[in-house]
Amino acid sequence: MIEARDVVKYFGRFKALDRVSFDVREGEKVVILGPSGSGKSTLLRSINQLETIDAGRIVVNGIDINDPATDITRVREEVGMVFQSFNLFPHKTVLENLTLAQVVVRKRSRQEAREKGLELLRKVGIAEKADVFPGRLSGGQQQRVAIARSLAMDPKLMLFDEPTSALDPEMIGEVLDVMKGLAREGMTMVVVTHEMGFAREVADRVIFMDHGAIVEEGTPEHFFTSPTHERTKLFLSQIL
Ligand code: ADP
Ligand code: MG
Repeated sequence: MIEARDVVKYFGRFKALDRVSFDVREGEKVVILGPSGSGKSTLLRSINQLETIDAGRIVVNGIDINDPATDITRVREEVGMVFQSFNLFPHKTVLENLTLAQVVVRKRSRQEAREKGLELLRKVGIAEKADVFPGRLSGGQQQRVAIARSLAMDPKLMLFDEPTSALDPEMIGEVLDVMKGLAREGMTMVVVTHEMGFAREVADRVIFMDHGAIVEEGTPEHFFTSPTHERTKLFLSQIL
């Protein structure tokens, strides 16, 4: 689903990604860990071309995203992304947030988009909020709406960038539960998170980044019990 090879990204003279290579197979759940500033967001954003890379290659679902001939909107339609900030449209109701892109991008009828939107709201547990504005929801509810909105596009791949980092502690669980449900259904997921319980439980593979590079990669079992690199051990000692 994702094939990244020697990806390099600069911001000015600062190297934010330093020859990053990894693969994600269909249905796989990969959790990316690493200290603040290690390049996790830049990597995720590069996967759907919110950042353009300076060298290397990223192929998403068979499409080379840096090929000038590639229609990047096509790639973005297949890739859902959920951010730390929920980015809902504040002046649209919850259900309208879910139907807009379905109608405009997927060319679905209003009726079809509404049905799909309501089904997804039920799935994330907030069907009763369909007609309210996002500002009336808690952070956890807003993030569940944001996930549902992504899912409405039938993405082949979901990217999550610290989806629970802006939430009050008591709301983290409800968002992680939705993500675990998605994982069980077989969604291909790349998740940047500091939730180690989620990483242990859900990840097929953990990638640890530091200073723009992948330092260590392995199963959660390997990563949490017998990491090889000093930087990984240091990181774990600081957060566990
Ligand atoms: P992480 O998500 O792991 O915290 P980021 O990918 O956000 O790290 O950032 C990696 C590095 O790149 C940081 O040092 C950050 O300051 C820098 N960076 C990120 N985005 C930009 C930008 N748009 N312009 C300049 N520097 C940036
Ligand atoms: Mg980040």
